[in-house]
Amino acid sequence: MTADDFDSAAALSEVKEAIATAERDAARREGSVTLVAVSKVHGADRIVPVLQAGHRVFGENRVQEAQGKWPALKERFAGVELHLIGPLQSNKAGDAVALFDVIETVDREKIARALAAEMDRQGRRVPVLVQVNTGKEPQKAGIDPEDADAFIARCRDDYGLEVRGVMCIPPVDEEPALHFALLREIARRNGLPVLSMGMSDDYPTAIALGATHVRVGTAVFGHRPVKG
Ligand SMILES: *Cc1c(COP(=O)(O)O)cnc(C)c1O
Repeated sequence: MTADDFDSAAALSEVKEAIATAERDAARREGSVTLVAVSKVHGADRIVPVLQAGHRVFGENRVQEAQGKWPALKERFAGVELHLIGPLQSNKAGDAVALFDVIETVDREKIARALAAEMDRQGRRVPVLVQVNTGKEPQKAGIDPEDADAFIARCRDDYGLEVRGVMCIPPVDEEPALHFALLREIARRNGLPVLSMGMSDDYPTAIALGATHVRVGTAVFGHRPVKG
């Protein structure tokens, strides 16, 4: 399939329909789940139809890539809310604070400190989520679950960050429900309203377990082109 014959607007409506069904099945209020459409790697040809269909919440995993495509799109379409969902290096904290509207991947002191300093410098408060490595995978970003409460408290109290919630990416080869339930418990005991969990393969399960935000890429934009 070429880049042009995938209908991302049609895929968007299907995903929105599936989200509505999952909300109903879980006896949750309609519209209580926000779709973060993950547009990483895709170009304007697939993103613009989704914007034209009225969708406004998007996720990108690389600061530099997002800087290349989103300033122009934000200019063209009012009300875009851009989420950073990939690992952040502290030397990119300034760029991230300037471009993103939510930073979902705060997972260590150095990043919390760099973000707080940049928000002060730019006079721009960007809400954040703490990423939890629920599977304790060595190669994966995120704070370990047993360190989450103390880290959340430090982000709020020592760095003055507006921590809205938590996010996780479960291990690919494990039952995601256990990880979603663990994340929900961490949010609950810390009094946090936002739960960012669930991707193309498992977002209905995440919604059943309380996700407020699902990060869906492939199901909205098609398969990502493989970089050669
Ligand atoms: C790419 C990505 C997604 C979306 O993945 P799909 O399987 O394409 O839906 C969600 N969350 C994060 C952190 C990602 O990097």
